[in-house]
Amino acid sequence: MRINEITNWAYGVTVILTVLSGGAFILSTKSADQERVAVEEHLALDALAEELALGAEERSDEARLYVMRGEERHLLAFQEKEADETRLEGTIGDIRSLGGSDAELAALVEVERHADVLDKVEEAAVAAYQGGDRSGARETLFGPEHERQQTLLLETVTRFRQLAGTRTEGAVATAKSRADWWDTAAKAMLGVTAVLFLAVLYFILKRRVAVPLVRMTGIVTRLAKQDYAVEVPLDPRQDEIGEMNKAIHIFRENGLERDRLDAERRADQRTKDLILHMMHRVQACQTQAELAEVVTRFAPQIFPNLAGHLYVLNDSRTMLAEMGTWLEPRHSTASFPMDACWGLRRGRPHLSNHGQDDVPCQHLGESDVTGLCIPLTAQGDTIGLLYFEERPGHEMAPESARLYLELIAENIGLAIANLQLRDRLTNLAVRDALTGLLNRRCLDEALARHAREAAETPLSCLMIDIDHFKRFNDEFGHDAGDVVMQYVAQMLLDTIGAAGTCYRFGGEEFTVLLPETGEIVAFDIAERLRQKIATTPLSHRGRILGLVSVSIGIAVSPAQGPVTTLVTRADAALLEAKAAGRNQTVAAGAAKFPEEGGPTPLKQINRPQSPGPRAP
Ligand code: GH3
Ligand code: MG
Ligand code: MG
Repeated sequence: MRINEITNWAYGVTVILTVLSGGAFILSTKSADQERVAVEEHLALDALAEELALGAEERSDEARLYVMRGEERHLLAFQEKEADETRLEGTIGDIRSLGGSDAELAALVEVERHADVLDKVEEAAVAAYQGGDRSGARETLFGPEHERQQTLLLETVTRFRQLAGTRTEGAVATAKSRADWWDTAAKAMLGVTAVLFLAVLYFILKRRVAVPLVRMTGIVTRLAKQDYAVEVPLDPRQDEIGEMNKAIHIFRENGLERDRLDAERRADQRTKDLILHMMHRVQACQTQAELAEVVTRFAPQIFPNLAGHLYVLNDSRTMLAEMGTWLEPRHSTASFPMDACWGLRRGRPHLSNHGQDDVPCQHLGESDVTGLCIPLTAQGDTIGLLYFEERPGHEMAPESARLYLELIAENIGLAIANLQLRDRLTNLAVRDALTGLLNRRCLDEALARHAREAAETPLSCLMIDIDHFKRFNDEFGHDAGDVVMQYVAQMLLDTIGAAGTCYRFGGEEFTVLLPETGEIVAFDIAERLRQKIATTPLSHRGRILGLVSVSIGIAVSPAQGPVTTLVTRADAALLEAKAAGRNQTVAAGAAKFPEEGGPTPLKQINRPQSPGPRAP
């Protein structure tokens, strides 16, 4: 049964018991009234009997005084008493209204009869006295008959009074016991009401006040310790405790919200810190590979729910190639044409959300993944693309995180652009613009480095000069001369490959450094190069340029001399090759290399008197 019903029932029973006890009190009062009425009736009857007896006695006294003294005033008094007696006798009929019983009425009639008898005796004595029979009158009034009549009258009165007294006592006793009963009943009901009231009060105080208060105290204590995991059961009561419960509930909700906001703020701060760390490292990167590694390491820490790729646009600005990847994205391909991405086409972030409102990028294929493409740009130029996709079981970053993604993309774009610019400037500084080979300054640095290291392993140097190059300029123009130069440079790169490094020494002269390569191997490489160049005819703008040949001089360190004289020695060997008729290789070392049916003679020369390095 609900507490509300219990209190309602208790209230109803209390009201009924109160009404009943009130009724009992009224009935008790009524019985007390009856008792009082019975007593009053008894007193009235008693007074009537008393008056009758007393009146008879006084009249007898007046009659006796009259016959003894003969004074008229006693006669008058006797007659007045007579009249009073007649009036009293007249009221005897009203005895019913005083509650008198038949026996009492009969007793009273008896009293009246004896009083009449006595009156007649006395009236006869008075008449005898007035007739002159004074002694007769005195004898009558003082004689035994008068005495007997008087005694009878008094006995009758006494009996009447006894009858009235007995009846009244019974009525009073009945009324009193009834009054007592109702009084006890009223008191009992009041007692039950009080007990019920106290029980309900206890019940209410205990169940509805004390228990909820104790429970709420426990909850408030835990909330004060910021333990918002505590459950606050909702109490729909419309009283102070209900309001308190509501307030505690709101307090807990606010606490939880504050905790959530704190956690969000901390997560946001951590994201910002990580972004800042990443930016610092991105700014310090010296190559795009380094930058890709930084992005690959930090991106999954900043956005653990997002897999992704870092793409960079190629030099011809047509294709995007993956430079870094994290958390195993499953959908975007490793490379794709620029126009396969809506983000790159529009130059702004694009959310591919299959089955939803926007068109998906083609590089995502037919997958139904949600992917976010953020173009990397710098000063209006597209540099590459940051691609993010939701991991299985996770959702795409919310709008609030997109700002961070775009911030990261902006910084990465700028960093890549800076690195590309730096690469270009570095290339300009170290490479020859016409052939793309490293320039003379790089050669000097490399030689200085080798000289510092002073390694025991051999280092070979080839000095290469195009034979009669001036002829190409003169006959076909400088452009043709440039083409010849580029052709020879490409031959150098193709032939040398990873075995060494190629430099443009100056003019139409080239240098090749072959680390850890002895003279024999170097000679072999040089010969292959020379023969390759010499056997490939060239043309330019439809005109046959003819065959190009080169002369090559070889020197080796440290066996034949220090690195500092390496170029001078190789150059001397080259001069020897020129002097010997061009299109040949000359090694400056002591070893002789047998000619094995090659088209050009192999000539070994002694170390020449060094003319010193020539200006290019
Ligand atoms: P040799 O067989 O003795 O080496 O004769 P050569 O004609 O090759 O040598 P020479 O020193 O007489 O001529 C070199 C010419 O190369 C002179 C210069 O105008 C030309 N030259 C130098 N640099 C360039 C260049 O970058 N482009 C073009 N087209 N010509 C260049
Ligand atoms: Mg030359
Ligand atoms: Mg030349």
